[in-house]
Amino acid sequence: MISGNTCKKCGRNLPTNYKYKKCESCRNKRIETAKKVVFGTITVLGTVGSIAVTIFSGGKNKK
Ligand SMILES: [Zn+2]
Repeated sequence: MISGNTCKKCGRNLPTNYKYKKCESCRNKRIETAKKVVFGTITVLGTVGSIAVTIFSGGKNKK
């Protein structure tokens, strides 16, 4: 029986009723990458934000 479902990324055979076009391992990699991007963005924004707050409050407290 040919399911016709293969991972779009690595070509691995997928279960017949699999609802994704990529296998679990490729999807996990994608999720990991997305997580890293999101986490990196948050880290950068947080760093920039805290620096901005430090500068801002420092300037405010300056006499
Ligand atoms: Zn795959």
